[in-house]
Formats: sequence, C-alpha cells, structure tokens
Amino acid sequence: MASHPLETAAQALGQKLEGLDLPGRLALVASLEGKAVFTTSLGIEDQVITAAIATGRNDIEVSTLETGRLFNETVALIDKTEETYGILIRRFRPEQDDIDAYAAKYGLNGFYDSVEARHACCGVRKLKPLARALEGASFWITGLRRGQSGNRAETPFAEADLERGLIKINPLADWTIEEINAHVAAEAIPVNPLHTRGYPSIGCEPCTRAIKPGEPERAGRWWWENDEKRECGLHVAEAASAQSPLPASSIAR
Ligand code: SF4
Repeated sequence: MASHPLETAAQALGQKLEGLDLPGRLALVASLEGKAVFTTSLGIEDQVITAAIATGRNDIEVSTLETGRLFNETVALIDKTEETYGILIRRFRPEQDDIDAYAAKYGLNGFYDSVEARHACCGVRKLKPLARALEGASFWITGLRRGQSGNRAETPFAEADLERGLIKINPLADWTIEEINAHVAAEAIPVNPLHTRGYPSIGCEPCTRAIKPGEPERAGRWWWENDEKRECGLHVAEAASAQSPLPASSIAR
C-alpha cells in the first residue's frame, strides 16, 4: 500500500505507462512537469531507449557514467550513437581526487579484494557521478528489465526513489530479450559488439566477463562475488525518507 506522496504518484504513473508502447511511455514522461534524465550504459536495452528518445524527439536528457574503466567498445559506441542519432550524450566522470583517495586506500584494482572495496569503487566511479547526472531531475529513466535477473524480476514501470527524491521509470520492464533483439535488428540500432561475444550485460572492463551458455544474463558482472543479488548500487532500493518529494499533482496527470 503506497503511503509516501512519491509512491502514490509512481503507482498512478505506472498504471498509465503499462498500457502504452515504448514511444508512448517516453512521450508521456517527457510531457510531465519536471526534468527527465535517461542514464545509459550503452547496453542493448539502453540503445533501444536512446533510439526511441531521439526518434520521438522527446525532451529527455541522455547521460552516461564514463567511469574511466569502460571497455573501448563501449566508449566508441557513445560517439557512434551521438553521430547516428544527432544527439548529445552527457558524460559524467569521477573526480580525480576521489580516484586517488580510493587507490591510496584500496589500490587501483582493490575491488577484487572485498565487497566493501568494490562498493567503494562503484561509489566513486558510478554513484557520485550519477548524483550529478540526476541533479534537478524529477524522473530517472533506466533500461531495467524483469528478465535480466532474479533481482529485477519485480521491476515496475514506475517506482519511487525516496533516497533521490524522484520517480524512476523503467519503460522496458516488460520486454523480453528476444523482443529487444528483434527490435534492434528491425531498426538497425547500433549496439556494442561485445554482445555477440558472450557479454549480454556490459559494465566496467575489469568487472565484466563473458558468460557461458545457459548462465543468467548478469552472471558475468562481478563474477568473483558470491552474492546472487550483486548490483553496483545504482538500482538497489534503499529505505530512506525523501527530503523534497514531488507533489503528486505534478506527476499524475
Ligand atoms: S564496476 Fe568495477 S571498476 Fe567499475 S566502478 Fe564498480 S568496482 Fe569500479
């Protein structure tokens, strides 16, 4: 039962989004009062969303977290996507001081040594830049899908992010990987060449490996950790109270 105003608004918005196709979902979010930001990892789902935003000329900011540890193929795809669609993808990078402090404490590749060190690295290279990317945003669009992992099986179309004081929109929540692949082929959407080399989910280069046939899509992410629910912290729901929740009236219209 929703209780926080942001949760009530997200629930109402989610019901509207459910009955729409992808262009309709994005157009609806773009039409709402408040800034909408889409953060892309350049993964195949995110390429579908970027293409739809560009094609629909939606007023949605497209941003990416350039962690400094991405695959060369991913970095090249940022430029290629901009050229293909004539859009600007805003790059948010970690602060050098933060990287230096991390390296001094854990070592540059200290993330292999402990979960704590790994979360600290993701904090510096992803979470802090994400906070800057989402500054002033009322809506955060992501490419999360229910089929990506057991941890994401309940992904809703819209959910309150009380920690960040915004509504998170997952317009591909109900898409299957087969639908994603078919759409990419039909629309000739540029995708990361690593996908055809066994990488369905692509993150930072040192923390992503190819998966074996039959393994879950995200099995190649932080593969050395045992926790089946491992995530980088970007999409982990955290119980917290929002300091500046959106008025429900600004969303549910
Ligand atoms: S995925 Fe790996 S390299 Fe990238 S920020 Fe997280 S720990 Fe650091």
